[in-house]
Amino acid sequence: MKTRQASNLQLRLLTNVVIVYMLMAFAWWSVLLFTKNRDAFEAKAEVMRISMAAQRLVQNEAEFRQTPPYLELTRKYKRQEWMIMGEAIVFVISLVIGVYMINRGYLREVNAARQRRNFLLSITHELKSPLASIRLVMDTLRKRELTQDQIKQLSRNGLKETERLHALVEDLLLSAKLETAYQPHLEITDLSRLLQDCLQRVQDKNPDRPMIWNGPAEPVEIAVDRTGMTSVVLNLLENAVKYSPEDSPVQLQLQANEKNVQILVADVGIGIPDQEKKQVFEKFYRVGNEDTRQTKGTGLGLYIVEQIVRAHGGLIQIRDNQPQGTIFDLTLPCTTEKIP
Ligand code: ADP
Repeated sequence: MKTRQASNLQLRLLTNVVIVYMLMAFAWWSVLLFTKNRDAFEAKAEVMRISMAAQRLVQNEAEFRQTPPYLELTRKYKRQEWMIMGEAIVFVISLVIGVYMINRGYLREVNAARQRRNFLLSITHELKSPLASIRLVMDTLRKRELTQDQIKQLSRNGLKETERLHALVEDLLLSAKLETAYQPHLEITDLSRLLQDCLQRVQDKNPDRPMIWNGPAEPVEIAVDRTGMTSVVLNLLENAVKYSPEDSPVQLQLQANEKNVQILVADVGIGIPDQEKKQVFEKFYRVGNEDTRQTKGTGLGLYIVEQIVRAHGGLIQIRDNQPQGTIFDLTLPCTTEKIP
């Protein structure tokens, strides 16, 4: 990996050196062309002046400069100068555009390779650790004489790990489906109920965490894909829990008007740097790198969230919470029909 990165860097350096050389050579040739053009003009003008003076057509330099042949020669000379300049400008612009495209492509490649590497590392970890736990549970159940309570506790742990594996596989399948053939199955749903159910599910998994609900008392009925929207809200809430201190509050808010509904998920956690607020929605993207990261994850959650929100004709944005943390701001159109 490191060697490939090093050779990529060398290649990029070499390309840049060649480009700089080309620019310098081109600048030199342009200057030379200008000088030669001027020399040719001056030589032609001199021949013309001598021949006119010999024929006694002009008396002095000032008179010569007013003659039609000299004026025509000057016009030609100026035109040639403009042509050289035009060519030079077109060449430099094409080169700059070319270099920009090459660099952009290169950076995209590097980014994609980093994401693939991150994904492989995190997925391997996410697959290996629950498998290792389940294996340990089975081993203990097989080898040891255990009390009923111990057996119950162990099976609970095993089940939790199986659920983790199941969720991972579901996320992988869903993200593959979102890329090809996802059509939201829209049903009129009380969004307020759906959100509160999600909040309750996350609360059950994190009983000590303060969870705040802020929404209208009456039902908010719009057409959504229930499974998809549940996955969106659960993902955002679970992230809010995952990326904030253990005892800090997580807030879920719903507001509705005639046109839109707005869902806010706010935490007071580590926050997301401005330059990464867009990238976190890319598939497999995680802030930081796999060696320094503390939390478990695959970088699939927000990709799934954004795809589902888009399929509903909605929009999701990230804002900074004050004094710290993140707010996920989701807007959905208040449609009661199927989106075309
Ligand atoms: P995962 O959580 O599995 O890594 P996600 O796609 O859900 O993947 O999130 C992508 C990245 O965005 C996370 O790795 C994390 O760095 C960042 N992130 C998501 N939600 C939050 C949040 N509430 N606070 C801070 N960072 C977050």
